This record gives sequence, structure tokens and C-alpha cells, in this order.
Amino acid sequence: MSSTITHDVVNPATEEVVTTIDLVGLPETDAAIARAVEVGPQWRAVNPADRGMLLRRFADVVETHTEELARLEVANAGHTISNARWEAGNVVGVLRYYAAAPERLFGRQIPVAGGLDVTFKEPLGVVSVIVPWNFPMPIAGWGMAPALAAGNTVVLKPAELTPLTAVRLGELALEAGIPDGVLTVLPGKGSVVGERFVSHPDVRKVCFTGSTAVGQGIMRKAADQLKRVTLELGGKSANIVFADADLDTAAASAPMSFLDNAGQDCCARSRILVQRSVFDSFMERFERAVKGVVVGDPGDEATQMGPLVSSGQRDSVRGFVDEAGDGGRATVDVAFRGSAPEGPGWWYPPTVVLPSGPQDRVWQEEVFGPVVAVMAFDDEEDAVRKANDTAYGLSGSIWTRDLGRAIRVARGVEAGNLSVNSHSSVRYSTPFGGFKASGIGRELGPDALDAFTEVKNVFLSTEA
Ligand code: NAP
Ligand code: MG
Repeated sequence: MSSTITHDVVNPATEEVVTTIDLVGLPETDAAIARAVEVGPQWRAVNPADRGMLLRRFADVVETHTEELARLEVANAGHTISNARWEAGNVVGVLRYYAAAPERLFGRQIPVAGGLDVTFKEPLGVVSVIVPWNFPMPIAGWGMAPALAAGNTVVLKPAELTPLTAVRLGELALEAGIPDGVLTVLPGKGSVVGERFVSHPDVRKVCFTGSTAVGQGIMRKAADQLKRVTLELGGKSANIVFADADLDTAAASAPMSFLDNAGQDCCARSRILVQRSVFDSFMERFERAVKGVVVGDPGDEATQMGPLVSSGQRDSVRGFVDEAGDGGRATVDVAFRGSAPEGPGWWYPPTVVLPSGPQDRVWQEEVFGPVVAVMAFDDEEDAVRKANDTAYGLSGSIWTRDLGRAIRVARGVEAGNLSVNSHSSVRYSTPFGGFKASGIGRELGPDALDAFTEVKNVFLSTEA
């Protein structure tokens, strides 16, 4: 028998150990999958109204634990308390949204000769959800809520770094009356639990959010069993500011579009494209706004940005901007920086860089930290071309007062989630996902159930 492996959960703002948890191994993973298979028929048989009611009850129980969950996320992931409350609320919202789905999982009646033709949306069976550390609660919710609503049973692996809220959500599901085995949270290593989800023949789907490299590996291995995948991967999204935009609002809102969650956000607008004629006036306003961002204790209500999740993540971010072991000599031109606390904690200040050209690593690759690169463009065509000059295509923003241009540019940018005169991109009621290397499939919104069901067509003869 394997001995238990443990993981020290560390507070990113203090570097103190919060708690030590037991990681599950292969035997526990296989047992959870077997249990998910076993209870599948029972969960599928719960009538639609009752399944919806159970999901609403799950939402209610999560809601009454919002503050506890938020505090756990502050301690585990260094999220600001206001973000963490929003994240717990997002789980409540997504559960309530999909609680309406079991009674609305409509098929079609299709006119045919000689009988009645109807379609059903059947659950897949056991669905696995692999969650990254950047948004532990929301991403768990986006996978489990529609999967459960569609009648699947779920095994869910949080990131090794951030297991606490997912484990708690698993307990709250039981408290709400979701039957044992229908949702099992398995804190463990990606190389053990995550890989088992992919290789186990009884797991019918992998719903993965994380790095492009791991997502590609999952898709390759999933091909052996024609296992369904939804992949939500990285981003390098552009914030495009035209000369005719409301520059004050565009500049004032730009900082949190790449600093929210300390930049550890797949939708971060980590490239800013500014029309050349207003470049200097934008940068002046933008510098004031970046320097005004409050970076510090994530538990403080006024804090806008906390630390990075781990020392490894900070090293990775430093690698993009400061040459390691070289006294911080910049490899790229730093235009200006905001502030960050000294002392313990994995802090990194808001950093604005000017790349030497579009080939720069900081312009092409996902930094996943509080770093933005700014470049000028000449006209609409140049803006769209520069925005699309990346492997990714997740998100982006367009600032202009010209409605026709907003629509033209929104249609021209190759990305799944765009916002005009705003940086919003994620709502549980609208589809979310990426073009190109940002992923495959869509989560959330009215169509997410399609990603957790198979269409079955049944013909009933009227001539027999
Ligand atoms: P990652 O390795 O892709 O981790 C994401 C999830 O996949 C974690 O739960 C991880 O488990 C699991 N995993 C790792 N290897 C696996 C495997 N071979 N099979 C199945 N599951 C596996 O991402 P990361 O290392 O945490 O972050 C690296 C970079 O990825 C970031 O810097 C960022 O650029 C990008 N990223 C993007 C997103 C996003 O929202 N799109 C989220 C996170 C990271 P463990 O935690 O145990 O490794
Ligand atoms: Mg990894």
C-alpha cells in the first residue's frame, strides 16, 4: 500500500503554513470513480424538478457559507477579500442558473415520414473536472454545476496549491443533500489524480482549465478513448484603445484589467494597444492610475491586489521582466511600476513594459502576473492585425465611441470573449471560451449543457 503524501497549504501573503492536507493517490481516485459509476443511475433517475431543487439547495448552503469560503480563499490563494466574496457568490449564481436546467433540458421533435422522431440529451456518465489554482471556486462551479444538472456524476480535482475551498464545497454538497458519490472532490497531484481521470475508461469527459501545454497532453491522451474534452487554456488578450475613446475612462479602468487577481487571470488584458496619436496622453493617465492601485494585505477590504500564488509563480513572472540573478537588470524596457509590500509574501509590483517589438516574449507569452506590455498602432487594420498576432484568442477589450468601428473590430479580433468600453468577460449566463490555443469548447451560458450530454435520436413508428 502507498503511504500517504501530504501537502502544506501556504498563505501566499505571509508564507506561513495554513494547514497540511492528505493528498489522495491512485487507489482513492479509482474508488471515487467506481462510486461515481455506481451512483450514476440513481442520480440520473432523480426527477428533473427534484434534481433542480437539490442544486438550489446546494446553492443556498454555499451562500450561507460565503464568508467562510471567502476567508479560506484569502488564506490559501492570496485573493483579495472582495474578490473572494465575489468568487463564492459566483458558485452560488452558477448553481442557481443550472438548477433551472434539468427541467429545461429540451430535445426536439423532428418531422419525418412514418412516425415520430424525438431527440434526448443524455448524460455522459462520469465527468471529471480539473481545476487550476487561479480561480479555485468559480472554475469548480463552472464544471460541476452544468455537469450535475445534466445528470452526470462528477469527480473534481482542485489544483494542488489551492484545495481548501473545493474540499469545503464537496462537504457542503453533502450537507445540501446531494447524494454521496455524486460529487467527489479529490485533492491530489495532476500527475496522479489528473492523469488517472484521463486514462480511466469509466471517465467519459475531462473538463480542464489550466496551461496550454497540459491541455494539449490531455487532448492527446484522451484521443485513445475518444474521451470528450473541454479545454480552457491561457490567454494574451489585447485591450485596444482608439483615439476617439473616452481616454479618461479607458486609462482609469486599464490597471485592474491586468492586475485583478494579481494578473493570474486567463482573461487578463496583458497587452494594451493604443492608437499612436493618443499614446502619450493615454500613458500619462495610465501611469497615475497604476500607481494608485492599492497592493497589500488581501484580507483588508481596501486592497485591490494581493500577492502571487507561489514563489514559483513569482520566479516565472520575474523571468519575463527581470533577468534572474542579475540584480534585476531589465531585459525589457520597464516604463513604470506600482508599489508592492516588502517582507514575507510573494509580492510583485504592477509593472508596465514597452516591448521592443512583437517578437518579444513578454508580448507573445502568457505572463500570468501583474505585467502589461503596451504598444502603439496606426489604424483600425493595424490594431486588428496586432491583436491577432498571438497564438491565443480568449478575450479582449475595445475602447471607441464609434459604434461601427466597435462592431467591425469585435468581429475582426479572433477571441471568444470581447467587451466594448468595458473589461467584463465572464458571466455565468453567457458562453465563455477561447479561439486558437486558448482552448476548445465553451463553458457557461445556455449551451453549456451540450458539452455534458450526448444527443440521442429516437424514431417511433406509427405504422406498426
Ligand atoms: P497546470 O499545470 O496546467 O495546472 C492546471 C491543473 O491541471 C491543476 O489542477 C494541475 O494539478 C493539473 N495537472 C497538471 N498536470 C496534469 C496532467 N499531466 N494531467 C492532468 N492534470 C494535470 O497549470 P500550472 O502549472 O498551475 O500553471 C502554469 C501556467 O499555466 C500559468 O503560469 C499560466 O500561464 C497557465 N494557467 C492558465 C490558467 C487558465 O485559467 N487558463 C490557469 C492556471 C494556469 P497540480 O496542481 O497538482 O499540478
Ligand atoms: Mg503545472
